[in-house]
Amino acid sequence: MENSFPHHGKTLTRENLLPLLRATDADLSALYARADAVRRENCGDAVPIRAILEFSNVCANDCLYCGIRASNPDPIRYQMAAADIRAAARQIAGEEIAGTIVLQAGETPGASDDAIAALIRDIKTDCPALAITLSVGNRPRHVYARWRDAGMDRYLLRFETSDAALFARLHPAGTLAERLRCLRDLQALGVQTGGGFMIGLPGETVETLADNILLCREFDFDMIGIGPYIPHPGTPLSHAPNVYADDPDMFFRAIAVLRLATPLAHIPATTAFDALFSDGRDRALQCGANVFMPNATPRPYRRAYQLYPGKPCVDEEALNCSRCVQHRLHTLGRPIAPGPSHSLKMKSDSHVLNPDS
Ligand code: SF4
Repeated sequence: MENSFPHHGKTLTRENLLPLLRATDADLSALYARADAVRRENCGDAVPIRAILEFSNVCANDCLYCGIRASNPDPIRYQMAAADIRAAARQIAGEEIAGTIVLQAGETPGASDDAIAALIRDIKTDCPALAITLSVGNRPRHVYARWRDAGMDRYLLRFETSDAALFARLHPAGTLAERLRCLRDLQALGVQTGGGFMIGLPGETVETLADNILLCREFDFDMIGIGPYIPHPGTPLSHAPNVYADDPDMFFRAIAVLRLATPLAHIPATTAFDALFSDGRDRALQCGANVFMPNATPRPYRRAYQLYPGKPCVDEEALNCSRCVQHRLHTLGRPIAPGPSHSLKMKSDSHVLNPDS
C-alpha cells in the first residue's frame, strides 16, 4: 500500500499532491496509515502538550468568519488580569503535563504590547521550564523582537489562505502580503514560528488547499495549525457553509497530506476537529498530527471565546481538560512528551535558529 505514496517532503509536487487530496474511500485508509508512519518516523509517538490560555477576547479586527470579531456585539468582552494569567501559568507548570503555555488573544496592536512583554517576563521568572508561545496577530518586527527578548519562545500566526484575493475579502483590515511579512520577520528573529490555514473557506478550491500546504512547506514552519472552517451565526458568513460540508473526510485528508509534505513540523490536532466530530482530535492524531492543545482558560471566560460555534469543553475546568487529555492519549497508546518539546528543526539546545534583530 505504501507504494501508492512514494513521495513526501520536498519530492511531493503540486501534481502528485492534488490526487492525494482527492483520494477516494478505497485509498483513504492507506493514505492515513502512510501519514501516521511518517509522523512516527519523524516525531515519535510521544505527544507534546500545549495548554491554551485565551487571556482576552478583545479584538480590533473584523475577520468575516470570526465569532469574536469587533463588530459582533454578542460576546461579553473580557481581559484577564496579569495576576490571574500568572496564576494560571503557575498551575499549568505545577501539573507537569503541558510543557508549553500558549497565550492567545484577539488583535489589539499597540494597546497591549508593553503589558504582554511584562507578562512574558513574569511568567518566565515564575516558571522557567515552561515554554511560551504567543498568538496575538500581526505586529511590527520591533514588537516581535521585544517579546522575543522578554522570553517568548514561539509565535503562532496562521495565514488562513494562500489566495491573496480571498484573504483580502475575509480580512478587511489586512493583506496576505502583510501577514506573510510578519511570518518572515518572526523567522528572521529566530522565533519558532507557526503558520497554518483553514480548510473549506467559502470561495476556496482544492487547488487553494494544495497551495496552502505548499506555502507551509515553502516557509518551513516549525508548527502548522490547520482546522475546518465552521460558520459562526454572529458573523457575515453565518450562511456560508464549509466548501467540504458534504465531504468531511477532506479535513483528515488535509492533515495527512500536510504531514507527508512537512514531515518535521509540529502539527496539532486542533480543537475545531472536536467541534465537528466527537473523536475529531483523536482521529487527527492518527493521520498525521502529533501535538495536543487542551484548553486551560478559566471556565468563566470560555463561553466568551467562541471563534466558531460548537467549540468543545466550554463548561469544563482547566484541570478536567488536563485529565481528559491524559485519558485520550492513554486510549490511543500514545505517551505524553516530557518538557517543552521545542521545534523538531532545531539544530542544538538553543531555541534561537537564526537570530537577526
Ligand atoms: S480571527 Fe483573530 S484577528 Fe480576526 S477577528 Fe478573530 S480574533 Fe480578531
